[in-house]
Amino acid sequence: MSTGGNSCLLPFVGSSFPISAAIESEPSMTDTFTTAERSRLMAQIRSVDTRPEKLLRAFLSKNGLCLKTHVRILPGKPDIVVFPCRTAIFVNGCFWHNHAGCKRAGFPATRVDFWRRKILGNAFRDRRNRAALRKLGWRVITVWQCQLAPKKVEQRLTSLLATLRSGPPEENERAARKTKN
Ligand SMILES: [Zn+2]
Repeated sequence: MSTGGNSCLLPFVGSSFPISAAIESEPSMTDTFTTAERSRLMAQIRSVDTRPEKLLRAFLSKNGLCLKTHVRILPGKPDIVVFPCRTAIFVNGCFWHNHAGCKRAGFPATRVDFWRRKILGNAFRDRRNRAALRKLGWRVITVWQCQLAPKKVEQRLTSLLATLRSGPPEENERAARKTKN
């Protein structure tokens, strides 16, 4: 699978995709949510096609990458998989996946034990899945919801694209070994 080099990439289209325009600012999560509101929010966030994920898919497709989504055969069912680059991408909500050091992460003041168990459980599974994927030779990239905010999105997507354009991880590793010998 890794012998095809960068064949997954069509010519780079550039950053003409109006990514910032596609994102509206989101209200921050506070404890003022009622149970019903919170579960509605939960359903939205957990639905298969979350907005940040759609945005990312549109951007990567526009830039010539062949994607597969929600690939069940891989650990953690990655949101986006670029098979020729052997790269699995998770698009994670900062609250649900406990983004370290992020102001969107943290535990609500009510039902603390419930939320701690839930959120730390997600984060634990994330770590386990990332480790399993890496062991299978996959590059794993996490794109956090906060990184897709209007002020940061361009930088994040540019660096993501650069990583994908570098080809599958095995090739990088082989190159590193060659320079050592
Ligand atoms: Zn975050």
